[in-house]
Amino acid sequence: MPECLFCAIVAGRLPATIVYQDEAVTAFQDINPVAPTHILVVPNRHIATLNDLDDAELAGRLLMTCQRVAREAGIVDAGYRVVNNVGSQGGQHVYHIHLHVLGGRRLAWPPG
Ligand code: AMP
Ligand code: ZN
Repeated sequence: MPECLFCAIVAGRLPATIVYQDEAVTAFQDINPVAPTHILVVPNRHIATLNDLDDAELAGRLLMTCQRVAREAGIVDAGYRVVNNVGSQGGQHVYHIHLHVLGGRRLAWPPG
């Protein structure tokens, strides 16, 4: 089985522009940004989807890291969006849970 893309980024085996990393989470630039700021926040350990997340402390750390990287990107006052796509109808393509931090432009609602 091929290695999970985001496990490879966390481990440094696949290049990415990492903007924050600690012992639990990693944040890096999305390779195909859909907004001026588009950062992905992932747990360092492999968890496929939100349906598999059973660690409330880790969930909090993921969310707090979104706040951190948004602040460092300078978008907290203007506003931004945190998105987690779950499963096929939710639009998930990489099955290692990730929160999208999107900002730097006015975002439409509802999503398509
Ligand atoms: P999703 O569709 O919610 O699963 O989001 C997957 C995201 O991963 C997309 O926004 C992709 O652009 C992004 N992505 C895929 N491969 C890479 C990579 N090697 N480095 C950074 N981002 C990636
Ligand atoms: Zn993984």
